[in-house]
Amino acid sequence: MKEQEITLSEILIAREERVAIQNALLGKYQAPVISFTMNIAGPVKVTALSHRAFLWGCEQLRLGFVQNRFPVLAEKTRSLPTGDEAYYAIDAPAEQVKALCVEIEEAVIMGRLFDMDVIGLDGKKLERDAERSCIVCGKPGRDCASRRLHTVQELQQATKTNLELAFLLLARRKLSGLATNALLEEVAVTPKPGLVDRANNGAHRDMDLSTFQASAAALTAYWEACFREGMRPASAVGDGFPVPGSASPICHSEQGEASMSPAQTFAQLRPLGKQAERDMLAATGGVNTHKGAIFTLGVLCGAIGRRWTAEEGFPSVDTILNEAADMTRQTLEAELPDANWHTAGEALFRQYGTRGIRGEVADGLPAVREISLPVFKRLLTQGLDRNHAAAVTLLHLIANVEDTNLLHRGGKEGAAWAKCQASGLITDGSVPSLREIAALDRQFIERNLSPGGCADLLAVTLFLERLENTNSITIQN
Ligand SMILES: [Zn+2]
Repeated sequence: MKEQEITLSEILIAREERVAIQNALLGKYQAPVISFTMNIAGPVKVTALSHRAFLWGCEQLRLGFVQNRFPVLAEKTRSLPTGDEAYYAIDAPAEQVKALCVEIEEAVIMGRLFDMDVIGLDGKKLERDAERSCIVCGKPGRDCASRRLHTVQELQQATKTNLELAFLLLARRKLSGLATNALLEEVAVTPKPGLVDRANNGAHRDMDLSTFQASAAALTAYWEACFREGMRPASAVGDGFPVPGSASPICHSEQGEASMSPAQTFAQLRPLGKQAERDMLAATGGVNTHKGAIFTLGVLCGAIGRRWTAEEGFPSVDTILNEAADMTRQTLEAELPDANWHTAGEALFRQYGTRGIRGEVADGLPAVREISLPVFKRLLTQGLDRNHAAAVTLLHLIANVEDTNLLHRGGKEGAAWAKCQASGLITDGSVPSLREIAALDRQFIERNLSPGGCADLLAVTLFLERLENTNSITIQN
């Protein structure tokens, strides 16, 4: 976004136009009007950050209208160099509309930069009960502004810091929710051949739906920790992020500090992953429900942290997967040949040359990028509900991925049989019914087969699909 300086006369003209729009809406709809603008100091009134904040503010207003059952009679937005503007004519008492606006202004950090004026039927702006505080020093009232106690640079820096911190906190909250949701959604998809779902425990005797739910809940803080680790500059030590008192809460390299190398980030993530595994075992009574997801989704959250910016939000799926490959490739390739064969996956690598989930991640998750994510999105577009689309997507994964869990339980023969069965149901792009998949589920259970690796990749698919969707909602205009 090109940042453009504006003149005083442009500001005055824009202000006159705003009053004209407000009056026109009042006259036409005979209802209170919200006039929402951003309070940005200095000659540049629109930045990438301020524009994102404005869109987010509009979304909060729309959600507030739904929450309060306020009928919206008219809506209008303008994006001008003098600032973003939104207008809403609301069929509700002006005092109630004002109360919602104040609530939003006070509820979130970036609300300090929102000017959500409400104009009553008499054409007058409703006053706030409580005065707003100064964005630089926090003192209440307009004293700082009227006496010009702070420089434009101070105001601009405080604005930038406010917005970066606000978007950072939102992103962390969002990411934890998305990852937790992906695990819960994955286990709930029914039917899934051989796996725990809502109908049965698949080929498992030591876990059920509630084991997975407990595990997913125990991991909620982990995803955010991985994201924070990805953001950490090379110089930062310990878990003291964001650094209190630092000028900016965002510790990316553009702030003048070197980022960690991709491999360093991966090394920093590993102890977090080990702790997450212990948290999982504590929650499940010693059952391994999400070890693969802890690894794969953890790396992705770290990758997202490395490429997230307050201006752009979450990176694209391609960027995330490329970053995950950069983070892990060297380390995993160096480790695989000398591994001590502690895990089933390592033993299978020795036996069959299958690199398992770690090889998938080191390659940038081609099974997700090229198969499961496009298939899942296509099935949703075709009108399938999320459960059915996810169940069919799982078959595509089983048909195409070397699943070490299948190899471990069924050997080469069992894994080949599973692949063949899954392929049979999806040949030529056919979409099997839930009944057909349930029949395959029974066969997997009889043969004691469970495609746990594919289940983890399904969770990743559900996660990335929601993440992409989140971005398009946030960025839309
Ligand atoms: Zn002040």
